[in-house]
Amino acid sequence: MTLWYEPREILIGGTWRRTAEVLGVEDPSTGEIWSEIAAGGAADIDEAVAAAEAALQGDWGRMPAFERGRVLMNISRKILEHTEELAIIEARDVGKPLKQARADAIAMARYFEFYAGACDKFHGETIPFLDGYTVYTLREPHGVTGHIIPWNYPMQILGRSVGAALAMGNATVLKPAEEASLTALAFGRIAMAAGLPAGALNIVTGLGETAGAALSGHRGIHHISFTGSVSVGQLIQAAAARHVIPVTLELGGKSPQLVFEDADLEKALPFLVNAGIQNAGQTCSASSRILVHRARYDEVVTRMAARYGALRVGAALSDPDVGPVISAKQCSMIHSMLDLGKDLTLAGQGVLSPDAPQGGHYVLPRLLAQVNPDHRLAQEEIFGPVQVVIPFSDEEEAVKIANGTEFGLVAGVWSENGGRQMRMAKRLRAGQVFLNNYGAAGGVELPFGGIGKSGHGREKGFEALYGFSVLKTVAAHHG
Ligand code: NAD
Repeated sequence: MTLWYEPREILIGGTWRRTAEVLGVEDPSTGEIWSEIAAGGAADIDEAVAAAEAALQGDWGRMPAFERGRVLMNISRKILEHTEELAIIEARDVGKPLKQARADAIAMARYFEFYAGACDKFHGETIPFLDGYTVYTLREPHGVTGHIIPWNYPMQILGRSVGAALAMGNATVLKPAEEASLTALAFGRIAMAAGLPAGALNIVTGLGETAGAALSGHRGIHHISFTGSVSVGQLIQAAAARHVIPVTLELGGKSPQLVFEDADLEKALPFLVNAGIQNAGQTCSASSRILVHRARYDEVVTRMAARYGALRVGAALSDPDVGPVISAKQCSMIHSMLDLGKDLTLAGQGVLSPDAPQGGHYVLPRLLAQVNPDHRLAQEEIFGPVQVVIPFSDEEEAVKIANGTEFGLVAGVWSENGGRQMRMAKRLRAGQVFLNNYGAAGGVELPFGGIGKSGHGREKGFEALYGFSVLKTVAAHHG
């Protein structure tokens, strides 16, 4: 069956409906408005939270854990049936090259598959205690969980956050990003068709300042999971503090890859470049800093530059190496950052495809060399296809530079020396460290999250289930 969805509708308590206002949605590859979404507001969020609460008291709340697992597995299967349609929607909505959008749809299915299996395997324990007592713990859902997600990886972030929350039996309210809400809406249709009870998933599209703020400040939610910028993350944490609810923040990064003198460059090169230009660099875990031992510095820059020269930038559906960035605003933000780097050496640059549509938001990928670690381009998240290459002399200096930003999301190490790999894994300030790879193929099993301004809390893997549940201790005295 073909995937049908109505982009102007929101989902509340199992019913799809329209709002009075709509927002235009741009195709970043052309700059044209290609769709509309509902502009949900505070009243819609109120109703969505109430519907989620009702679901907890109804079918969803009473469903046995293994049944939840079956529903989540069914969702996973149905996502896979619609991979191609979801990928095409995402490619147009985000400007993401089609093959990357396809990988995102498959990853979303994989999250639901992983968490389907976890539903009935994550539980409390008994605790030996005084004579006359039986003590045990229960793993319970928070209740209503709020999920505010960004536009860069809508399907993957929905999968990891909503998937884990549903696995623990929470009822969810999702606010997708206004720039790219369509796959979330299509997902809503899939989830309902897969047998998810009404109210377990509610989706309200709309602006961050209205729908997003109403959700994060709502008295009726018991946990909020936010993925996005540091500045909005700070607002979310402040809003959550008002009602003293737990919050998971997945924010930005300035993630380094460290290339030591004994690195296998043949293996490293594709990772060094791809981790900077994937999704046009609009990736929280993008590797925007490449730190290279002085002995290999020129070689690495030359070889990375050669790869940059072959990068074709074009419309998402033409499956280029690099698509457009999300908006004109993002494009000008990246260019104003690049203006700060006019003093730097432009070592390599991608090429605009002659058939790239005129109005699209294209940024040529740029590799900048001889960059001082304190330069703003080496310190601030650019969120565009820009990498800086910084030299270092020894391990000590490499660690100092790598740990020398406000962020701590991901780090990569390229070295054939096992002892050095272990030392680096311990000393690097990051939520994930990759040794002789970068990203581990996105493995959904791998806990993910930041340190410092990259956020706190962990999503993905089994670890996420701790965050999306509450531990209750029961102590029975029986004489
Ligand atoms: P953003 O913070 O502008 O928006 C993210 C979401 O927050 C959107 O849904 C938006 O509508 C909503 N929002 C905006 N203002 C709000 C408010 N006042 N109250 C409540 N919600 C509000 O971020 P973005 O520009 O969409 O995404 C880019 C940022 O996200 C980058 O910094 C990137 O590093 C980060 N990011 C992090 C991860 C991660 O897992 N760590 C993943 C993807 C993106």
